[in-house]
Amino acid sequence: MTLLLDALAAAIGRANVLTGDDAAPYLTDWRKRYVGRALAVARPANTAEVAAVVRECVAARAPMVPQGGNTGLVGGGTPDDSGRAVVISLQRMKRVRSLDLANDTVTVEAGCVLQEVQQAARAGGRLFPLSLAAEGSATIGGNLATNAGGVQVLRYGNARDLTLGLEVVLADGEIWDGLRGLRKDNTGYDLKHLFIGAEGTLGVITAATLKLYPLPAAQMTALAAVPSLACATRLLERSRAAAGAALTAFEVMGAITLQHAVETLPALRMPLPLGEPWYALLELSDAEGEQHATSVLERVLAGAMDAGEIADAAVASSIAEARALWRLREGIPEAHARRGGNVKHDVSLPVSCIAEFVESTNAALRRRFAWIEPIVFGHLGDGNLHYNMGTVAGTPIEVAFAHEQAINDLVHDAVHARSGSISAEHGLGQLKRGAIVRYKPAVELELMRRIKRALDPLGLMNPGKVI
Ligand SMILES: Cc1cc2nc3c(=O)[nH]c(=O)nc-3n(C[C@H](O)[C@H](O)[C@H](O)COP(=O)(O)OP(=O)(O)OC[C@H]3O[C@@H](n4cnc5c(N)ncnc54)[C@H](O)[C@@H]3O)c2cc1C
Repeated sequence: MTLLLDALAAAIGRANVLTGDDAAPYLTDWRKRYVGRALAVARPANTAEVAAVVRECVAARAPMVPQGGNTGLVGGGTPDDSGRAVVISLQRMKRVRSLDLANDTVTVEAGCVLQEVQQAARAGGRLFPLSLAAEGSATIGGNLATNAGGVQVLRYGNARDLTLGLEVVLADGEIWDGLRGLRKDNTGYDLKHLFIGAEGTLGVITAATLKLYPLPAAQMTALAAVPSLACATRLLERSRAAAGAALTAFEVMGAITLQHAVETLPALRMPLPLGEPWYALLELSDAEGEQHATSVLERVLAGAMDAGEIADAAVASSIAEARALWRLREGIPEAHARRGGNVKHDVSLPVSCIAEFVESTNAALRRRFAWIEPIVFGHLGDGNLHYNMGTVAGTPIEVAFAHEQAINDLVHDAVHARSGSISAEHGLGQLKRGAIVRYKPAVELELMRRIKRALDPLGLMNPGKVI
């Protein structure tokens, strides 16, 4: 293995091959749930260097773990504890290679932080709409490898929908240049989609050509207090009917979820009393201007109030107020992590099933575990809930973790019974690799294994993840 370390140092420079304490931050995931060991962390600076690192690892039969910002929530970027793997960190590959305004595309390297890509687009007068709470650290490579969702999927789709082309270093070290900025290209299998959402198990994404959109002329954000999830679903329907494509986000948060967040992070402020069981966060992005956006939003909220779908609402009157409303939503994962975490589920269901799913699954969980406290929030507009389970005051969270498997089975069975997905946007990683076997049809699992064998016959690319 010293030979491999020397070969990596020769390929990318010794300073970019981290071992010992320098490697430690790359070996634990964001939730501190997984701690791995690695031979080294390699930090290549360009595609040719990534290819060289992969070739050296293949020659030494060393497993490889691609890593971006290390904000993934399913342990996909953490090596196992064998100490044989090489973590390939893309963090030094941060170049915006080109901005093509006439084609509405940007080509960026995989280590670009999502926020930097948004800023590069904005500097060109365009919108790159992928947006999520970890955008200050998550990288484009990680976003694509996990097919990240976030808060604007409702309007713009997930990372897959925003990608026109990819550059990938394959599992044998060959470089595939598929960086085409085409919106139409029916020339056989669309290979980029194999690597998007593969969580680093088929190759290392080194660059991507992404779609850009016009910047909205105005944005309006509102927080509405909602008596039930069924009412939130009706409010979503009403908002869509009135705003159409201008409805760019529709999030929900449980009152208990928000209450804990506000108590834990003093910077968060609720503009409404926490008196209703649910809160909906709506965002309208209007192509015409502020007056139009305001009139649409006011019409939606007034209609919803008359119909009893909402009890109260606060409309942001400045960018600062809109940011403060978003911070409430975006602060939830961090606040709950500080409180000791909870048993997490990232599920999706047809929107029409969500209210019934939550009501009946909450009841089933409470019948079995009297101490359970549902911590629920998520992207209602996409049918995606973070349906997490904490414990009521007086019961330590360790009690929930001790029953994690039983809670997971109950929740995932309920999702599966309604034709939902047990991983809407975070992926499978290590966390759900076992669980998916229970729910995915055997033929789908076998097709995935065949693809894995075809593209990574030695099984060195992120082993122990996904399948
Ligand atoms: C506070 C918080 C909020 C979040 N909110 C959301 C959300 O709203 N929506 C959402 O979808 N996710 C969310 N996430 C999860 C996470 O941010 C996303 O999964 C993100 O896309 C991961 O990017 P990353 O660069 O951190 O990837 P990492 O964590 O480094 O890696 C994630 C996976 O991708 C693989 N990978 C990374 N880079 C590459 C590459 N260049 N080539 C091949 N494989 C690669 C890794 O091996 C691993 O399997 C959130 C996370 C946090 C901490």
